[in-house]
Amino acid sequence: MTAILDGAAVAAGILTRIAAASKQLAATGITPTLTVVTATADPITAKWTQILSRAADQAGMTCRPITLGPGATSADIRATLTELSMEPEVNGIVLQVPLPPGIELDTLTDAIAIDKDIDGANPLSAGRLARDLPVFAPAIARAVVTLLNHHMIQIRDKKVVVVGRSNAVGKPIADLLLQRNATVTICHRHTTNLAEITRTADLVIAAAGHPGLITVEHIHPEAVLIDVGLNLTPAGKLVGDVNATEVIGHVAALTPVPGGVGPVTTAMLLDHTLRAVHISSRTTSP
Ligand code: ADP
Repeated sequence: MTAILDGAAVAAGILTRIAAASKQLAATGITPTLTVVTATADPITAKWTQILSRAADQAGMTCRPITLGPGATSADIRATLTELSMEPEVNGIVLQVPLPPGIELDTLTDAIAIDKDIDGANPLSAGRLARDLPVFAPAIARAVVTLLNHHMIQIRDKKVVVVGRSNAVGKPIADLLLQRNATVTICHRHTTNLAEITRTADLVIAAAGHPGLITVEHIHPEAVLIDVGLNLTPAGKLVGDVNATEVIGHVAALTPVPGGVGPVTTAMLLDHTLRAVHISSRTTSP
């Protein structure tokens, strides 16, 4: 029997709590506000921004999409991020990927004020996370930990294998799990014996952006499998990094795609926005 770790229900619970807190803030004249900056015509990005806006509405927050379009230059994007960083009504800033060809994410994210960096994108946020200092971790990494906590899956002393070492996903997930005293191994595209390594894990985090990468040969039957991948098939279907049809029945627990890590990630961004409101009224960091 494979337990399906539902993320939608976890997200709904978090949104209810956030909505109550937003309501209290509204009584003092504050509406938590996040902005999502996009510079792409990518349909998945547009869809995701729409999902985030809807969740923000539900939570009594404002989500302001700023659509610069695929023709935006590096200077345009930087100017937007700098302006939003200074705007007092803005509590959170997310810069969406993909960016226009030739523009590297890391050349821009330092323009996001650290106290508004609700997706932990600024390299300074990554450094603080690596040093266990207070900071907003990337929402997707917090979503993984929140899902595990909600389903009472132990992290401490567990052998975790993270498949993928991207700055946005794999590394921050490894950071958070290490902070929680897991024994963490990170694999990547140059790992030649992937299945051999993942088979030894209590917990496998699939974060490679490679549909169907993790199959039954990669997992121990008692393992928990967290699928962080979000891939669009040529037929327009959203799938994760795990071959779910194949592994169900051969693993202790699995997060579905869609409906697993995704909705919790959205909820985490809103949770961070709410925290950012409180930070803006103090002088300390996240
Ligand atoms: P994301 O930010 O969604 O994780 P990236 O493309 O930036 O996507 O990173 C993908 C990560 O997954 C990289 O660290 C890469 O090495 C890893 N990866 C990709 N394909 C494989 C594979 N076949 N086996 C193991 N790791 C992989």
